[in-house]
Amino acid sequence: MACPICKKPTNTELRPFCSKRCADVDLGKWLKGDYAIPAPDLEATDEPESGMRDARAAKPH
Ligand SMILES: [Zn+2]
Repeated sequence: MACPICKKPTNTELRPFCSKRCADVDLGKWLKGDYAIPAPDLEATDEPESGMRDARAAKPH
């Protein structure tokens, strides 16, 4: 498997990336919206389910 960013061999600890830098590049793409992501409406405040969101946030991922 090759790094999706630079096509170098993948680092097994960082797969699918070859380096932390490429992982950051990929993350940056996501943050900038280079990938099409359906806008989640879950960020809206005053949701009745806000308690569930808090419970999820309390758990370390
Ligand atoms: Zn790479």
